[in-house]
Amino acid sequence: MPESATTHPDVLEKLVSLCKRRGFIFQSSEIYGGTGSVWDYGPLGVELKKNLKDRWWRSMVRARDDIEGLDAAILMHPRVWEASGHVSGFVDPLVDCRHCKKRFRADDPRIKGEPGTPEAQCPSCGMKGTLSAPRLFNLMFKTFMGPVEDTASIVYLRPETAQGIYVNFLNVQQATRQKVPFGIAQIGKAFRNEITPGNFIFRTREFEQMEMQFFVEPGTDAHWFEYWKEQRMQWHRSLGLDPARLAFHQHTKEELAHYARAAFDIQFDFGGTLGFQEIEGVHNRGDYDLSRHQEFSGKKLEYFDQPNNRRYLPVVIETSVGADRTTLALLVNAYREEEVPGEAEGRTVLGFHPALAPIKAGIFPLVKKDGMPEMATRLANDLRPHFPVFYDESGAIGRRYRRQDEIGTPFGITVDGQSVADGTVTVRDRDTLKQERVSADRLREYLRERIEP
Ligand code: ATP
Repeated sequence: MPESATTHPDVLEKLVSLCKRRGFIFQSSEIYGGTGSVWDYGPLGVELKKNLKDRWWRSMVRARDDIEGLDAAILMHPRVWEASGHVSGFVDPLVDCRHCKKRFRADDPRIKGEPGTPEAQCPSCGMKGTLSAPRLFNLMFKTFMGPVEDTASIVYLRPETAQGIYVNFLNVQQATRQKVPFGIAQIGKAFRNEITPGNFIFRTREFEQMEMQFFVEPGTDAHWFEYWKEQRMQWHRSLGLDPARLAFHQHTKEELAHYARAAFDIQFDFGGTLGFQEIEGVHNRGDYDLSRHQEFSGKKLEYFDQPNNRRYLPVVIETSVGADRTTLALLVNAYREEEVPGEAEGRTVLGFHPALAPIKAGIFPLVKKDGMPEMATRLANDLRPHFPVFYDESGAIGRRYRRQDEIGTPFGITVDGQSVADGTVTVRDRDTLKQERVSADRLREYLRERIEP
């Protein structure tokens, strides 16, 4: 599948502005000029991302009996990162400009000539011969643990959540008495001092991962790899992501990590200049991780297979998906601008899957009199313990609908004159714009059937 060509327009700039205006996503520390490539989730964004994470957790942990949940700490023993290869290997080659002090990746296409030679020109200030030769720069954030700031007290902010799973492999296995094959899943923050971050929440320095490591008997790994590849693609489709915008990308020999036996990315077409990009990695990691931790910790991490009376190190199939990057995929996928038949003004819609929408229904009295606000308020109070709903009585009804369309609310419930007389309300569908009369008593059931599949 293509990694380049996209027919979809670039909607990022519009999304950044909509997300700020409507309270999905704000720049971190904005009043101080912002923190580079760090973002805060506002009232609607936190709901959207939480719905996504809950859906992942439900499908991975709750709906299965062969995957256990975990919430490991961000700070880990520094030896973990030596064993994992991150201290020596999680590096990007960088060059510095001696004149303007800017830093670039050595493979920055804007650099003309070989960095470190008199010919090379700085892409920022334009000076010639000022770029240093490439130097390796580690992407892990470092800090100090305890009162003394010396090399012995260095700890790292984890650059991935996976290591917390590997080091707890036997703890979880013994506590739950799971038998191989089984998996461990966790959702948590990861930190990378990315040199070329950007594109809104696509690549940030602080982000959340949803990772599941599946431990299998050697020899069965090719089968499980295929299984998880398909399962994960299916899950992305279940979010309502357009199947034509999803693709597999198989890692070439050059792209494969040295320990990996096979790796596929699941890509989403973000449109514009980004095009198809990774949102999830599915990797066959062999027994690299467990054998390295066994070696560095001096503790046996072998699994004991009782029926066959043998010990072995399981092979790991990893599925690793970014919660923020997938949230961006949801936003990009959902965004559309369209004309409204019979109306002069068009509308902007976030066509989220109802299960992911931050607010499920807007509740509107048609006018602010004749018992309508009272009935609508009562309805909103009845529904609120079951779904996030939003009560709005201000302005023309068309405008109230459009404000909800713009944040992806799938249903608009209007209380009108007839409602007060016969106890029915109209339910407007965000996408088809069709209106249906539904008895207020049945409303909860009506919404549940449409929101939860
Ligand atoms: P990339 O090549 O895009 O940097 P990666 O191959 O380093 O990603 P992995 O280490 O496989 O990514 O991480 C798994 C997932 O975590 C990615 O598919 C992505 O969704 C997410 N992710 C990784 N780095 C970032 C980041 N800096 N910001 C947001 N999400 C990220």
